[in-house]
Amino acid sequence: MGMRSEIAAFLNTDLQFIKGVGPVLASRFEDVLGGRRVLDFLLHKPAYVRNRDIAESVAGVDAGTVITIPLLIKSYKKPKTAPWMKRARAIRVLCADKMGNSVVIQFFNSKFVDYWLEKLPIGQWRMVSGKIEAGEPPVINHPEFIETMENVKKIPTAQAIYPSGEGLTQKTFANVRDQIFSKLDSVISDSDDEYMVEFFDALRHVHFAKASDDLLPNSVYVSKLAYCELLAHQTAIAISRRNRTTQKNKKIPRIQKHNYLDKFYKALPFSLTNAQQRVLDEIFKDMDGDIPMMRLVQGDVGSGKTIVALIAALKMAENGGQTALLAPTDTLAQQHFAKIKPMCDNLGIVCDILTGRDKGVNRREKLTSLRSGRTKVVIGTHALFSDDVEYKDLGLVVVDEQHRFGVNQRESLRAKGKNVDLLALSATPIPRTLSMTMYGDMDISIINEKPAGRLPIKTTKLPIARTNDLILRIKQQVDDGAKVFWICPLVQDENGIGTAAAISRHEMLRQIFPTAGLVHGQMPKAERDKVMAEFADNDSDMSLLVATTVIEVGIDVPRASIIVIENAEQFGLAALHQLRGRVGRGKIQSYCILLYGYNVSPDGLKRLDVLCETDDGFVIAEQDLMMRGVGELLGTRQSGWIQYHFADWREHRDLFKLAARAACDDNTGVWARDLMNIFGCGENISA
Ligand code: ADP
Ligand code: MG
Repeated sequence: MGMRSEIAAFLNTDLQFIKGVGPVLASRFEDVLGGRRVLDFLLHKPAYVRNRDIAESVAGVDAGTVITIPLLIKSYKKPKTAPWMKRARAIRVLCADKMGNSVVIQFFNSKFVDYWLEKLPIGQWRMVSGKIEAGEPPVINHPEFIETMENVKKIPTAQAIYPSGEGLTQKTFANVRDQIFSKLDSVISDSDDEYMVEFFDALRHVHFAKASDDLLPNSVYVSKLAYCELLAHQTAIAISRRNRTTQKNKKIPRIQKHNYLDKFYKALPFSLTNAQQRVLDEIFKDMDGDIPMMRLVQGDVGSGKTIVALIAALKMAENGGQTALLAPTDTLAQQHFAKIKPMCDNLGIVCDILTGRDKGVNRREKLTSLRSGRTKVVIGTHALFSDDVEYKDLGLVVVDEQHRFGVNQRESLRAKGKNVDLLALSATPIPRTLSMTMYGDMDISIINEKPAGRLPIKTTKLPIARTNDLILRIKQQVDDGAKVFWICPLVQDENGIGTAAAISRHEMLRQIFPTAGLVHGQMPKAERDKVMAEFADNDSDMSLLVATTVIEVGIDVPRASIIVIENAEQFGLAALHQLRGRVGRGKIQSYCILLYGYNVSPDGLKRLDVLCETDDGFVIAEQDLMMRGVGELLGTRQSGWIQYHFADWREHRDLFKLAARAACDDNTGVWARDLMNIFGCGENISA
């Protein structure tokens, strides 16, 4: 049956049409809710419940407590106001509770003096609710409620408090909520889908929660809503997955024209790990199949993803197709190119690079070669999908460090060919349950094994006070030929809060390491790339590089064997693990030193211990998730990940699985489609 249009119309109503709202408040709501429809309000969960149970006396009430108490108004002095007075004095109203204890109600805003004082007539009792501040007598500043004794009911004993923003009071939230739900009562009828009725009932319980416990992730109604939300997302993913396999998306089978791989394997100085081999089998199966590949390869830093991608590209070349390898930065594109080009040359495959640096004739020649189909493997940055770049027969797109790219970018590159195979590489290990829900329309391969014979990185934590000793030890290693990364969380310590800053650290370290380089996000990109390239160059004498996390992404510096991370407690574990992966790539013993600040918490130290004890990216990611949540792990804000309203990966693991299963079985019918609309994940998907 589906959602009736009357309900849908109400859910889509602009909040400005709610009584007492109007365009100004509606746009303030939009800032907080991320939308300005009734639906957006409904999906905004209160954070906690403030109890306003009635107290008899202020005696013994701690400062900072919110109380609701009957008070007798005794006296006040109305301060003089005059146009020349910049700030009127506060108005202090002296009151007494039932036991005779004095309390002062205080107002600062002289503009509303008369309004307030009218509510507090001398000699009468009023029910007052607000926060008690210390004082002799104690003070309530600007009470949130003042009601006559007959109207006590107007003060909510349990007030749901919403996450709010500028210019929106909790009273406004309550007003909007009350109106929305009373309207919903009249719109939803018994004849409606029972799931629908139950869903709105759960929303009602959450918005009118009686205690903070009722808003916890595992409370009855929040978990119900969380399930609905997960079901919506999982159904969307399942549909998009099914769409991939429809008739119109079938690939035309390719016929092998050359033989490159045999020769390539013979020349390879090592043999592939079992994990690499298994993942390649999975990739080949996809490439040979008639459904476009959508595969994500996850592997810890150093697990050898690049070679896997290269082999996939060679296979595509054997079949006459072109491969585009998309790297997130110029430097990484250069690095890939430097490694891959010689191997391609060896096999007689034309390999090229295309970045923003290519201009004029040079660029035109490269484009011509791509258009003619002569170039079989092209490596580059976003320049690869500029409008004027055409491919003769693009068959495979490889996206390195894929979480740095939006889905749109990925799709616009794929659109350069017909039913192009997609291979994404990611070094951020994501626990399986999570990746299923995040990348649900992709197949996932995991390289869970590192090439043999690699020495594990020795990781230690050290208080910042030991920095000088550390520098001396590093000096020795550098004299012996080592290269060192030195990471600071900030570019500049603007607020003087004592967090390590790259610029001042570079100044200091240059006294000891005169060739030390510096890269950070506030430098022009070209300059940054130049310094990084110099450091990465095996033969350069830049022995130390001070950097912010701009170097996080897969840069490969073979001689780098030491990484120092300052204020390590301020980073997420997954980020630290990524950073650590910048060393330990060669055959020499590598070290990671986590420097922690004076303010580190015991928990913070425990987190660093996880890193000292394990080198397994999946274990670390799992820990990070448990401790800090999805957003932190993936850097949600910039990458367009799903932001849930009710679901929480840490708290609702079982629900994630249940929802994924239900969506796969597709036994959820029309209801799930309604949920997709409610949770806004059905827009780009045709069922
Ligand atoms: P990542 O997964 O971090 O992208 P890379 O593909 O850059 O890892 O590989 C790291 C290093 O390990 C490279 O120098 C690569 O040549 C090497 N390597 C890859 N696979 C193997 C293997 N099976 N045996 C030995 N070395 C390997
Ligand atoms: Mg890599």
